[in-house]
Amino acid sequence: MEKVNVLIIGSGPAGYTAAIYAARAGLTPVLYTGGQPGGQLTTTNDVENFPGYPDGINGPQMMMDLQKQAERFGTKVNYGLVTAVDFSVYPLKVTVDEKDTVLAETVIVATGASAKYLGIPSEETFANRGVSACAVCDGYFYRGKEVAVVGAGDSAAEESTYLSKLCTKVHLIVRRDEMRASKIMQQRVLNTPNIEIHWNTETDEILGDDSGVTGVRLLDTKTGKKVRLLLKDSF
Ligand SMILES: Cc1cc2nc3c(=O)[nH]c(=O)nc-3n(C[C@H](O)[C@H](O)[C@H](O)COP(=O)(O)OP(=O)(O)OC[C@H]3O[C@@H](n4cnc5c(N)ncnc54)[C@H](O)[C@@H]3O)c2cc1C
Repeated sequence: MEKVNVLIIGSGPAGYTAAIYAARAGLTPVLYTGGQPGGQLTTTNDVENFPGYPDGINGPQMMMDLQKQAERFGTKVNYGLVTAVDFSVYPLKVTVDEKDTVLAETVIVATGASAKYLGIPSEETFANRGVSACAVCDGYFYRGKEVAVVGAGDSAAEESTYLSKLCTKVHLIVRRDEMRASKIMQQRVLNTPNIEIHWNTETDEILGDDSGVTGVRLLDTKTGKKVRLLLKDSF
C-alpha cells in the first residue's frame, strides 16, 4: 500500500497551484488528475485574464505549463480517478480507480466544478464560438455586441448585470413569470435599461452559421409559439 505525505485530488489550476506550493515546501506531493487532466481550462482556446500572459494563453497550453512547473519541483502526477475516501482514519485513506489504496497524511481536494449547460446539441456546436458559461471570463469577447443570458437565479442576474456594461443589449431568457434571484439582484436587473427580460420563455435552439452564434430560437412556454431572436453584431 502506497503512503504519501500530500495527496492532491484534481489537476485544474487549483490542484497544480497546491502542488507547486507543496512541492516547493519539500512535501513531495502526489497529484491524481481525474477524468479531465488539466481541468476545465483544457476546453477553452483563449485565457486572457491570467496575469503574466500579455497576449493571452491557450487553455490546454497553460495547463501543460502548470503541470511542468509542478513536476519541476518534484510533484508526481498520476492519471487516476479518486473513487472513495475515508477521512475517519489516519493516515487518511484514498481509493483510486476503485482498486488501489493510498494512505496520505494530508489530502487536498481540488476537484473544481463544472458549468451547468442546457443540454441542447447546438450548444456543443457553438462552444467557444458564441456559447459561454462565464461572463467574467468571456464577456470581453462580446463587448459592443448583443447577447442572451439564460437563467433567472442569482448567477444569471449577476452575469447579465456584468454584461450590460460591456454589451449593447442583454436579453435575459426566463422560463417562468418570475425570477429566482434574490430581490436585490432582481432589482439591479430591472433597473438596467439595456437588459430586456423575456418572461415565460425557454431556449429551444441556438442559431448560428460558420461565423458562430447569430441568435436563439425561443419557445413561449404559455402559447407554445417559437420565435427567432437575432442578436445584432453577435459573435
Ligand atoms: C469553456 C470554459 C472557459 C473558461 N475560461 C476561463 C477564462 O478565460 N478565465 C478564467 O479565469 N476562467 C475560465 N474558466 C473557468 C475556469 O476554467 C475554472 O474557474 C477553473 O478551471 C477552476 O479550477 P479548479 O482547479 O478549481 O477546477 P477544474 O478546472 O474544474 O478542475 C477540476 C479537476 O478535478 C479533477 N477531478 C474531479 N473529480 C475527481 C476525482 N474524483 N478524482 C480525481 N480528480 C478529480 C478533474 O479531472 C479536474 O482535473 C472557463 C471555464 C470553461 C468551462
